[in-house]
Amino acid sequence: MMQTIYSGMLIVAKTHRQHKDDEEKKKLIRAGLNPRFIEKQKCTEEDIDKIVDLHLRLDQVKKSMEALDPEDGIFAVGEIQDYGKLVEEFEFALQEAWGFEKSADHHSHWYDVPHCSCPKMDNRDNWGTPYRIMNVSCIVHGGIKNVVE
Ligand SMILES: [Zn+2]
Repeated sequence: MMQTIYSGMLIVAKTHRQHKDDEEKKKLIRAGLNPRFIEKQKCTEEDIDKIVDLHLRLDQVKKSMEALDPEDGIFAVGEIQDYGKLVEEFEFALQEAWGFEKSADHHSHWYDVPHCSCPKMDNRDNWGTPYRIMNVSCIVHGGIKNVVE
């Protein structure tokens, strides 16, 4: 009985701490948002809250990807690839929250994820175009063509 209550309290303490950490991270994310974009896109406080929240969740997805080890086998790799697709969903959601047109050509997080070995500079240069350069042996994106077909 005592033990149950005690472990319950531990969970509460951890959740509270997690919440506090998230609030700190949110402040940092908010401070890093481009003020000119906020003005140009006429973002409301509500929009900004949503953008900050999406960035926080995107960071959490990247951390979850990082925690997975592709050496653990096909299920771990599948999970990493699913997270990779989720990152793009977040990119679309961010574009929407900013009031930009949803465009996969303007995504920049997809190659900036753990376990991705696609060329960073080349893809940065291709931002705004439909061209993506993928490494065939990339754990996240290498097999994606086969998955789609
Ligand atoms: Zn990749």
